[in-house]
Amino acid sequence: MASKRGLGVKLVGYVAAGVVLTSTAIGIGRVHTEHAHLSELLRQSGQSIANTAAAGAASLVAGYDYGNLEILANNVAQQAGVVHVVIRNASGRIVTQMEKRTDVPFHHFQAAIVFDKKNIGEVGVDLSSEAEDEAVTALYLRIFIEQLIFAGILGLILFVITSRGIVAPIYKLTETMETATAKGAPYVAEALPVNSDDEIGRLITVFNKLNRALADYYAQLQGKVQAADQALKDKNIELVARTEELEHTLELLGSMATTDWLTKLPNRRQFDETFDRLAHQAERFGEPLTLVLFDIDHFKHINDNYGHAAGDEVLHQIGNLIQDIVRKADLPARLGGDEFAALLYHTEEPQAEVFMRQLIDKIKDHAFNYNGARIPVTISAGAAEYGGANTSPQALYFAADRALYTAKRCGRDQYALYSALTDSKEAL
Ligand code: GH3
Ligand code: MG
Repeated sequence: MASKRGLGVKLVGYVAAGVVLTSTAIGIGRVHTEHAHLSELLRQSGQSIANTAAAGAASLVAGYDYGNLEILANNVAQQAGVVHVVIRNASGRIVTQMEKRTDVPFHHFQAAIVFDKKNIGEVGVDLSSEAEDEAVTALYLRIFIEQLIFAGILGLILFVITSRGIVAPIYKLTETMETATAKGAPYVAEALPVNSDDEIGRLITVFNKLNRALADYYAQLQGKVQAADQALKDKNIELVARTEELEHTLELLGSMATTDWLTKLPNRRQFDETFDRLAHQAERFGEPLTLVLFDIDHFKHINDNYGHAAGDEVLHQIGNLIQDIVRKADLPARLGGDEFAALLYHTEEPQAEVFMRQLIDKIKDHAFNYNGARIPVTISAGAAEYGGANTSPQALYFAADRALYTAKRCGRDQYALYSALTDSKEAL
């Protein structure tokens, strides 16, 4: 994984490499120059020893003073680095020599012995090159240490300058962006300071501009999202209202499909459905069930004499009257026109007779008023009990209808039982 401070580390590497190369190049140059200078100094020193010895030896050679020449050679040989001194006369014969060491490399220097402007011999001095080697080693070491210190200081200065000028702004920029994205922010909250006109400064300026544009765009987007959200909420409220309206309408439609609008009693459809269920239940548990059908007598006359609206009012009030006398378990219904039904659960014919008598009397006694007129109303009823030949809803309905027909035929305003009809062979 890349280091978070990778740029700083790279910078240290680049600076170190640059400084080492620079310092090495400078070091090599210095070694060259200073080595040459050192060699020249040593050469001058060796030549100076040879010249001084030649000057000292001039009168001694001229005077053949070999004793002092030997002392002179000895003195010269005592000087630092001198390993061999030889003094020759004009014919090249060695007058005296002093040899200290023979096992070392050396540099040879010689000087003519001049007396009275005549060349009367020469002095040879061998100077050990060990001293030069040591001096060169010391020179190398000194230059190395100096270059090392130079490289360290230069590197530090370069690092500080570059780090502050390049790495720190880029690091700050990266940190800011990373912090913002880690928090999930869509943009950086504040603009970054621009401290220079160079590429870094331009980079931060461009970043600030883009960031500002992003913030503006985000604000616009937020506005649009809020507006869309509000529109959605409004639509939702409208939708809820519409849904409620629709549910209400559906509920109404549902009740209209099963309820008679005029009397609010179950209509034929619901009656048939419930009739099937109750007939099945009665058969299963062996419980008595009786169907009563009743029809208004001469209802056409009511319509004709008092008007259709008066007829409607009569139907409506009969609906209320029947609701008053049926039990919860019974099923009253308007089957259509002026025909009504009451399916009496847990009821045998004798109780059905009581029910029909009560119903006929209640309707006959009820004051049907319309527009100030008293409308006399009577009904005829017929009943049949489930069982025997009547073991299906259709058969039971047919039987009750036969009984109703008989009641009508016998003068109306009365009831008839289907069983009495079959016993007296009146049926069909
Ligand atoms: P009956 O004694 O034999 O039953 O004679 P009726 O005149 O009642 O004859 P029927 O039962 O056949 O006639 C029913 C009449 O009821 C016919 C129709 O005009 C009327 N009718 C049917 N539905 C409505 C209604 O919703 N409102 C009103 N006012 N009259 C209706
Ligand atoms: Mg009728």
